[in-house]
Amino acid sequence: MRLAARTAAFTPSATLAITARARRMRAEGVDVLDFGAGEPDFDTPEHIKAAAVQALREGFTKYTAAAGIDDLKDAVCLKLKRDNGVEYRRENVIVSCGAKHTLYNVCMVLFQEGDEVLLPAPYWVSYPEQIRMAGAVPIPVETGEADGFRSRVQALEAACTPRTAGLIRNSPCNPTGAVLDRKDLEAIAAFAVARRLTVISDETYEALTYDGHEAVSIAALGEEVRHRTVVVNSLSKAYAMTGWRIGYAAGPVEVVQAMGIFQSQVTSNPTSIAQRAAVAALTGPQDCVRAMRAAFAERREAVVAAVNGLPRISCVRPGGAFYAFPNVSGCLGRRAGGRPLGTSADLADYLLEEARVAVVPGMEFGSDRHVRISYATSKATILEGVRRIGEALRRLR
Ligand code: PMP
Ligand code: GLU
Repeated sequence: MRLAARTAAFTPSATLAITARARRMRAEGVDVLDFGAGEPDFDTPEHIKAAAVQALREGFTKYTAAAGIDDLKDAVCLKLKRDNGVEYRRENVIVSCGAKHTLYNVCMVLFQEGDEVLLPAPYWVSYPEQIRMAGAVPIPVETGEADGFRSRVQALEAACTPRTAGLIRNSPCNPTGAVLDRKDLEAIAAFAVARRLTVISDETYEALTYDGHEAVSIAALGEEVRHRTVVVNSLSKAYAMTGWRIGYAAGPVEVVQAMGIFQSQVTSNPTSIAQRAAVAALTGPQDCVRAMRAAFAERREAVVAAVNGLPRISCVRPGGAFYAFPNVSGCLGRRAGGRPLGTSADLADYLLEEARVAVVPGMEFGSDRHVRISYATSKATILEGVRRIGEALRRLR
């Protein structure tokens, strides 16, 4: 069958593809350790599941309002006030099928042909694709490893042109774990206001910060920047709810309305019972979030220490999220057996086939000198996986 020409430009999500490949190998009986999946290994907390069960029992199984139920919009407003100190009303909020869907809708209503969108690199794999799907052009803006991968206004300024329409900020960052502090964000906010740019602030990992880092929402830094910002967040990571598919945006009414119209034609509402579970998550006890964060913090220590003990690879200490992003440039250009390792993808293939450890090549995130290790897995798996990686790296010539 003939496919539409646009499909030629689609690329599969590398993060999901690696996870699927690791799963397939495991189903075939290969003992693969998966550092690919950006997904908490914890179960969804019981009180959240109970809310979904209750919704099911009550027959809350029909279509809801396409942009989400009022109770959930109110819960999102409460959360944004409680955790971020920003006031939004129901009409500023839309709920979608995960933050990935939210971000797609945001790109579709904000960007168009001829627009450029600044994207601090390394960046999460889906941003450039979604920007392109909206007809705009992603403009990667390098961040420095020596600077902890923090985005700096000077670099953003240098990449800005009359076509620049917006900026996607992701802090804590997937894949680097970088967390922007209030001062960094104030500088970015002032830049966005001065340049009249739209800011998309992806705060999916805000609950997961360490070392006293505080994830500040750029929308909390004053009315001017708030009017130019769309905050995007997800229940996936904070509440171990990846499969429930609930994400949301908060922003100017006209943006949220346009997203609502678009969503009403494309997906309709996010799953009714997942919305009720999300209300319980956002309004219920938050100690489950703190407990998961404490576990991730411990794993982070383990992974950073273990990776930095390996030859030819080094890792900066991530301040948030659950990823380590080691520099592997010391491995590239070498050979494993007869096999040349020219790129981060070659190295990831080698590690999967020879060490039976799945990692995501950095090139998918805009840096071919790195690989991404997700430490959303048990400490035992982390230690064994890093040991296997070390063994494989020692065989490089
Ligand atoms: N943003 C970032 C930075 C992510 O890593 C993810 C990963 N899933 C998402 C958004 C989307 O999350 P979800 O669709 O599960 O809410
Ligand atoms: N965001 C996670 C990751 O980066 C989940 C997979 C995806 O949606 O890309 O691995």
